[in-house]
Amino acid sequence: MIKSLGVMTSGGDSPGMNAAIRAVVRRALDNQIEVYGIFSGYEGLVQGGGLIKKLGWNDVGGILQRGGTFLGTARSEQFRTIEGRRRAAENILALGIDALIVIGGDGSLMGAHQLSVEWPELAAQVFEARADLREAATGEPVLQVVGLPGSIDNDLSGTDMSIGADTALNHIVHAIDDLTSTAASHQRTFVVETMGRNCGYLALAGTLAGGATWALIPEQELELRWHQKMVDTIEKARKVGMTHQMVVVAEGARHPDGLRIESRDITKILQERLGLDVRLTVLGHIQRGGAPSAFDRILSTRLGVAAVDLLLDEPDVIHRHMVGVKKNKVVATPLMTVVEDTRTVKREIESGNFAKAIQLRGDGFQNMLNLVKTLTRLHPAHESRDDGKVVILTGGADAPGMNAAVSVAARHILNEGVEALGCRDEFYGLIHGDFIQLDWHELVDWVGRPSSDIGTARFDLLEGDFAKIAENIRKFNIKGAIAIGGWGTYQRIEQFVSMRSKFPEFNIPIMLVPASIDNNLPSSELCIGSDTALNNIVDAVDKIRHTAGATRRAFIVEVMGKECGFLALMGAMATGAEKAYLPETGISLAELNRDVIELKESFESGKRMVIYMRNEDASFHYTTDFLRNLLEEESHKEFEVRTAVLGHVQRGGIPSAFDRILACRMGAAAANALIRALETHSNDVLVFGIQAGAISPCSIADAFKQMDLEHDRPVQQWFLDLQPIADALSKSGPTSGQKPDDEGK
Ligand code: ADP
Repeated sequence: MIKSLGVMTSGGDSPGMNAAIRAVVRRALDNQIEVYGIFSGYEGLVQGGGLIKKLGWNDVGGILQRGGTFLGTARSEQFRTIEGRRRAAENILALGIDALIVIGGDGSLMGAHQLSVEWPELAAQVFEARADLREAATGEPVLQVVGLPGSIDNDLSGTDMSIGADTALNHIVHAIDDLTSTAASHQRTFVVETMGRNCGYLALAGTLAGGATWALIPEQELELRWHQKMVDTIEKARKVGMTHQMVVVAEGARHPDGLRIESRDITKILQERLGLDVRLTVLGHIQRGGAPSAFDRILSTRLGVAAVDLLLDEPDVIHRHMVGVKKNKVVATPLMTVVEDTRTVKREIESGNFAKAIQLRGDGFQNMLNLVKTLTRLHPAHESRDDGKVVILTGGADAPGMNAAVSVAARHILNEGVEALGCRDEFYGLIHGDFIQLDWHELVDWVGRPSSDIGTARFDLLEGDFAKIAENIRKFNIKGAIAIGGWGTYQRIEQFVSMRSKFPEFNIPIMLVPASIDNNLPSSELCIGSDTALNNIVDAVDKIRHTAGATRRAFIVEVMGKECGFLALMGAMATGAEKAYLPETGISLAELNRDVIELKESFESGKRMVIYMRNEDASFHYTTDFLRNLLEEESHKEFEVRTAVLGHVQRGGIPSAFDRILACRMGAAAANALIRALETHSNDVLVFGIQAGAISPCSIADAFKQMDLEHDRPVQQWFLDLQPIADALSKSGPTSGQKPDDEGK
C-alpha cells in the first residue's frame, strides 16, 4: 500500500499540467496518501532540499485554470547520469516516497522508466552509503512509477490526446482565423509555422480546423518538386478568385531528402515565384501559453485521478505505466511501450518510411490527412452530373460548428459531382422551396464561422406542409438529405420518414449529424457545439473568479443543457466549481439543507469564493433565483450571494478547434454514406455519432431506442461516471478532515 507519493512535471510545459497536479494531490490526500511536490522536474528530484515540499489540499487550490505548471519544469542533465539518479533515489528514500507520478513528454517518461528499472540497484547503493536510511527502512523499498502524457505536440503513443494539445490547437486556430481576416483584406498569402518537431498533429488539425490551403507535416512524403506543386496550387487558387492563402508548416516538416523545411524558405519561394506579398508568422511559444481549454482541464483531471487510482487498485503490482485516454476510456500502457512506439514513429520519419509513420499514428491521423487532401482541392474531383441534388439543412437551436459540418458535408457531395443545396431555416426551405446553391470556393471559409449561415429553426410541421415538401423534392430533383441538428430535428426527420407511405417522394436517404451544445443526443458521446459551449462556460467562470476581491461570495452560475447535465457537470469539473446541480438527480430540500450548512462552514473557515453550477432544468421550483434567495437569507450577512445566468453566451462565438474537427469528421462521414446510398438506391436514414472515438452510424430507429423520451436525453450518459471525480476534487478538504481551502484564491 502506497503511503507517500511524489508528483512532478518535466520537459516542456503544457497547459493542463496544473489541473493534473491538483487531481493527483487531492485524490492521493483523499486516500490518506501524503504527497510531495517535486519542483523543477528531475533537477528537483536530484537536488532535493527545498525543491521537494509536502503539499496539502490548500496548495493546489486555484491552480486548475492556470497555464504552465506551478511546480515548475526543467531539463536535467544530471538525471541522465547514473550518479544523478542515485542522488534522486537517496532523496526518494530519505522522504519515504514509494510512488512517483511524472507528467511530461517521451523524454520524461523515459527517465521515469529508467529510474524504475534501476531502482533495486540504486536503493542498494544508497543503503550501503546511508546506514540511517537502511535502518529506518521497513522491508524491501519499492518505487511505483506512473506517467501522464504532457506534450502540446500530441506525439505520444498510448493516448489519443496528450495534455496541452487541445489548448495549443485552439491557439493555432485562433491565429489562423485572425491572420485570415488580415490576409483577406490585403489579398495576402501567409505562411504559419506551428510546433511539432516530430509530429504533424498540430499543423494538420490546424489546417483542417482553420480552413488553410496547404499543410506541410513531418509524416507526409513530399514529392521531389513539392514546392512547384504548392506554387502552382496557390497560383491557380488566385486565378479562380480565392484572394488569400494560408500555408501551415510544422516545424519538423522535411524535404524528401530528410532536410528540415525552413518556413522562411517557403515564404521566399512563394514571394519570388509568384511575386506575391507573403508574410511569415512563427507561432512559437504562444502555443504553449495561456489558460488550458475545457478539454485539457477535464483530460488532465481524469488522468491525474486515474494515475492515483491505478496505484490504489493494484497495490501489489510494480507499476511502470503511463495512463492515457483512448477511445474515451482511461488506459494504462507500459512506459517502455509508450516511449518505444513514440520514438519508432520518429525513426520511421527519419529513415524516410513515411507510409509506416502515418500508419503508426493511427486511423484518426490518416483520416484527418485524407480530409485535408479533399478539402484543399481547388475544384471538385468530378464534374457536376446533373442527376439530382442533395439538400443540407441545420435545425433546432444553433450550435457552433454547424457551419463547419455544412461546409465539409457539402464539399464531399460536390466532390462526387452531385449538386448541394443549403436549405433555409431547417424545414422552412423545403416547404417554401427556399434553397441556397452551395459553392465549393465559398464553403472554404465556413469552417470557422459561428452558428449556421443557412439558418436554423424550430417549428412544428403542419399537416399541409408535407405535400409542399413533396412538391419541392420533385421540383428541385432532391435525391437525398443531410440534417445537422438537435433532438427537435431528429423528431421532425422521424415524422417526415413516417409519411413515406403517403408521399413516395420521401423515400430518399437521409443522414443525421448530431449538433447541440447540450450534448443530449442519442448514439453519440459528443455533439457538435458542446465543446465550444464548455469553453464559453470556462471563460465566463474564470472571469467571475477574478471579481471576488476581498469579499466572501457564493456564485450560482446557471448553464444550459435542458434536461441533460453535461454542461453543468463538465463545466463544474473544468472550473473547479464546488457543486453541480443536475437534472438527472434533481434538487431536494434535504440536499439544500446540507449545502447551506456546508457553505456556512466553508466561509467560516476562511473560504472566499464558492461556485455552484446549476443546470437550467435541474429543478422546476428550486430555480436559480430561489437558490440565491435561500442562501442569502441563510448567510446572515456573513457572505454575499450572486447569480450569473450565462444564457446565449454559451452558444455564441466561433467554434472551438475540437468542434470544428468533430464537425469535419461527422460531416464527411455523413456525406460519404449519402453518396453510397445514392449509388445503391437505398433510402436509409442513419445517425452519425461518435462512439469510443470513432464516427459510427446507426439507424434512426436504434437512435430513438437509446433515448429517454420522457426527459429528452440519452438513457446512458457516459459523463455521469465522472461525477464522483468532480465531487471528490472540489470539496473543501480530504475525507480525513484537513483544513478547507479556497479554490478561487
Ligand atoms: P520531454 O519530457 O518533454 O520529452 P525531454 O526530452 O527534455 O522533455 O526530457 C526531460 C528530462 O527527462 C530530461 O531533461 C532528463 O532529465 C530526463 N530524461 C530524458 N531522457 C532520459 C533518459 N534516457 N534517461 C534518464 N533521464 C532522461
